[in-house]
Amino acid sequence: MQSSDDGTQTIPKQPPPRDPDREFDWEKAYQFADGMLRLSELCFDTWKEELHRERKLKEFPKGFPIDGRYPCAICGKHASEEEQHWCDEYGIKCRICQDAIDSGEIPASAASDSESWYSAFDIEHSFDVKSKVVRRWVKEGVLKPRTIMSNGGQSVHMQLFFIEEHKDTLPPKELLEGRSVKEKTKDGQDAFYTEPWFCSVNIVEHLKGYKILEHMQKLSENDWNTKHFKLSMVPAMPYLFYADPL
Ligand SMILES: [Zn+2]
Repeated sequence: MQSSDDGTQTIPKQPPPRDPDREFDWEKAYQFADGMLRLSELCFDTWKEELHRERKLKEFPKGFPIDGRYPCAICGKHASEEEQHWCDEYGIKCRICQDAIDSGEIPASAASDSESWYSAFDIEHSFDVKSKVVRRWVKEGVLKPRTIMSNGGQSVHMQLFFIEEHKDTLPPKELLEGRSVKEKTKDGQDAFYTEPWFCSVNIVEHLKGYKILEHMQKLSENDWNTKHFKLSMVPAMPYLFYADPL
């Protein structure tokens, strides 16, 4: 106890209780700074490499071969394999896709403008159909693919469906973009997932004017692929078509 000037006794002030969450953590600060440093080194290396490619493109405007691990700008494959690619103003492509460009099967702009075409996977994913449906639509002439072949023309590497060539049939890809949805998990955390476009619109209205709608309406339940969205939260695609509104 201490005595004050007027003779009364005061209780000495106690330091506030420790709060580990509010104390400066040197270990965490070091880890954060180290992570930032590594990230900046990585960005710097990428930036240097891009600069080097830009300079080389001025010297070789038609493009040049490039070795390394790069994801192909068209098929997205080969990112983990050390192999030769082709680099030009449209991006870096694997030799298989570049051969398809060189032969005229697909335009060079396919590499820089992925919004101008659907892959077979895009069709499956966007319209929620199984791969057999895409094959059937190709067989029936509903979809007209540009096919990239591999193994000397023995195997199909990839099929592209250009929107320009399906103007009446396929909508622009931006019309079918999903939207981010937030929900609470059981332990109260925020969780985010992407909800497919068809969960929040009237499908018939949304695809009005595009022939793909007619072909979707002819599908049977076994043709739909419903594994990528939450059945507990959204009605399945067949339901949206077949349910009697009355
Ligand atoms: Zn490729």
